[in-house]
Formats: sequence, C-alpha cells, structure tokens
Amino acid sequence: MRYDVLIIGGGPVGNYLATLLAGKLDVAVVEKKSSFGGKACTGIIGAESFKELGFPEEAVINELQGAVFYSKIQSFEIQRESPQAYVVDRKILERELAKEAIKRGADYFIGTTFTGFRNGKARLQHLKETFEIEADFYVGADGVASTVAREIGAKSEAEFLKGYEVEVVGNFRRDFTEVWINKELNPDFFFWVTPVSEDVARVGTFGEFDAFRRFLAERRLKPTSIVEFKAGSVGLGWRKPWVSGNVALVGDAALQIKPTTAGGIVFGAICAHHLARAIIEGDLRSYESSCSAVRKQISSGLRVRKVFKGLNQEGIEKIFQILGSEDAIETIEEYADFDDHLRTFRALAKKPRLLAALLRISPSLIRALL
Ligand SMILES: Cc1cc2nc3c(=O)[nH]c(=O)nc-3n(C[C@H](O)[C@H](O)[C@H](O)COP(=O)(O)OP(=O)(O)OC[C@H]3O[C@@H](n4cnc5c(N)ncnc54)[C@H](O)[C@@H]3O)c2cc1C
Repeated sequence: MRYDVLIIGGGPVGNYLATLLAGKLDVAVVEKKSSFGGKACTGIIGAESFKELGFPEEAVINELQGAVFYSKIQSFEIQRESPQAYVVDRKILERELAKEAIKRGADYFIGTTFTGFRNGKARLQHLKETFEIEADFYVGADGVASTVAREIGAKSEAEFLKGYEVEVVGNFRRDFTEVWINKELNPDFFFWVTPVSEDVARVGTFGEFDAFRRFLAERRLKPTSIVEFKAGSVGLGWRKPWVSGNVALVGDAALQIKPTTAGGIVFGAICAHHLARAIIEGDLRSYESSCSAVRKQISSGLRVRKVFKGLNQEGIEKIFQILGSEDAIETIEEYADFDDHLRTFRALAKKPRLLAALLRISPSLIRALL
C-alpha cells in the first residue's frame, strides 16, 4: 500500500493533522487502540485557541469562566465575562476529528500498531496480521512514548512526570476551575479540580501518587466517591530532532507540551499546521523553525518550571500575596491568555509596583519570564 502521508497515532494531534492534509494529499492514519479516547487528560483547551483551531464544538462538555487559586493559606479568584477555557470529552474530540478527516478522504487503520521502519516502509500489525505501508512522508503523532521518535533516534533530556486523574462526585462551582499550589503536599506540581458538571469534577496532579491521595483528603473529596481513575505521563522539555529525513514528529511525540500546565493539545495542533504546510510544500526542513512561537513558549515555560521547583511554600505564599492584590487581579483579568502565559506575565511586569514586589521575592522568576 502506498500513500503520500502516513500519520502514526490517531490522538487529537494526529487526527487534527489528518484533517489539514486530507483532500490535498493521500493520507492514512494508523491508530493502535480499537477506539478513540481513553487517555488520562482533563481536556482543558483555551477558548480562543479552540475557536481559532476550528476544533469540533460537539466535544465541549463544560465552559470555564474563571479560576480560583489556592495556596496553603490564601486564595484569590480570576473571572472574565466570556468563557476562558472549555473542557472537552477526549473521545468525542478525537472521533469528530477522525470523522472529518475521513470525509475529506483520509483512510483510517484502527487497531493497528506501528512497530518500526524497514527498507523505508512502515511495518504495521493488526491482530495477527503484519503488513507494510510506504509513504512519501511519515509523521509520528504517537504520543509521549513515541515509537517513531525511538525509530529515528530522537533523544530527550526532558522531565517525565506521571499524572493521576480521577472523576469524582461532589458539589462544584461549574464554571470555575480550582488550582491548588501547596508544595508541602506536592513539591512537583499543582493540583487541579476542574468541574465537568455541578456534581462531577476531574481532579488531578503530576508527581507521586501519595501526593494525590493527600490532596483528596485535604480537599475533602472521598476516595469512595471516585467514578473514574486514570494515569498517564507527560514529558516537559525537548525531544530532538523533530525531523529526520522524510519523518517528522508532532504533538506529545515531539514533547510540544506547556511546561507550566502540561497541556499539549493546543501546542500540538499549532505545530500540526506548520507541519501540514511543510508537507504540502514537499520539504520538511522549514517545519521546526516555523514552530518558533511554540518553541519560545516552551523555553520560557521551562524556565518558570525551574523557578517553581526551587521555591518553597513560603515563596509561593509571597507570590500569592502579590498576585492576589487588586492591581494584579485586574491586570490578569484584562490580559490573561490561557495559551500564551508570556502575554499575561508581560502585562504584570508593566506595573512598576507589581514588578518591584515580584523582583524582591524572586528575581529569577522575573528573569525567567521576560
Ligand atoms: C493527567 C493528564 C492531564 C492532562 N490534561 C490536559 C489538558 O487539560 N489539556 C491539554 O491540552 N492537555 C492535557 N494533557 C496532555 C494531553 O493529554 C496531551 O498533550 C495530548 O494527548 C497530546 O495529543 P497527541 O495526539 O500528541 O498524543 P496522544 O493523545 O498520546 O495520542 C497518541 C496516539 O497514538 C497512538 N499510538 C501510540 N503508539 C502507537 C503505535 N506504535 N502505533 C499506532 N498508534 C500508536 C495512541 O494510541 C494514541 O491514540 C494531560 C495529560 C495528562 C497525563
């Protein structure tokens, strides 16, 4: 079998790329699972990006108007008039994208695993049958543990974190997500409580499972009220190269993930646009450099992550004092951008009083951000 492009991995990014290429080129997608969805993922996508990328509205199950930030001893709230982020159902998101790609002409091979390259062809396994597909371009959209990345010899010194997420029954403010930063409970990451309805929320963190358990107790969420448990992992950092010959990596396979929040759907989809253009032009060499905006966000996110890891809870409390001030909240509410944290931080830094206060607490944070 022969195609112009073979996409390995039918997650949100692989399927999104398929919608961009199908109809223009002969595209095939291989997905090892026998159905879409199922991955541990809260499914938060910035509202602006969601619309700009043209993601399917059918996937939206909740709209978030704002967030409440909690430290060990303080809290503050950010609210905007329009929804800032959507919570999506991953299965619907992936299926709808795949449906669109198929309507535009893509071929899907579900329940089919890519096992490696041999003589320039992709070797695939479906049940007990082994077969090959040859393509002009191959794309590894096969997630954080990418087999394609391994096959092209891509290397990574990223920080790999295990993530835990549950759906738990309780009482929640439907249009607000909660963000808890308590380094005494979890030195590695924040906790999130993201409602999908008034009575169910997705609760998760990255790091040690015990930290997650401690948080459930602290937040008074009963382990016996959990209706779904999932675990997954993310890689925060770089995996290089993104291109080798006629093979490219995209999405989690290339670690196109926000180091501050571990969200990867938007960055992956933005890079999918650049990759689609490079493939249509028949030359992958421009792909990596055309993703410069995402690379910049990853670089600054990694610097912020380094500062976060170096802070103790006392430092977090001091930062909360500043960010919880009226002046800061106003600025965040005006400039907050879910997928462009640099924009928010730059706006904060333009306020001399806030900048001076942040500089006193953590000069390295300011250096990381600006
Ligand atoms: C706990 C947790 C919470 C998260 N929350 C969010 C969030 O709220 N918002 C957000 O944007 N991101 C979130 N993320 C990150 C997000 O899940 C990823 O960034 C996103 O899934 C990346 O999409 P992808 O298509 O690149 O990879 P994946 O979603 O991993 O998809 C890869 C696909 O490739 C398939 N595959 C793998 N190997 C092969 C093979 N050899 N052959 C064929 N197919 C293969 C897999 O079955 C899978 O379907 C979260 C992650 C975790 C762990």
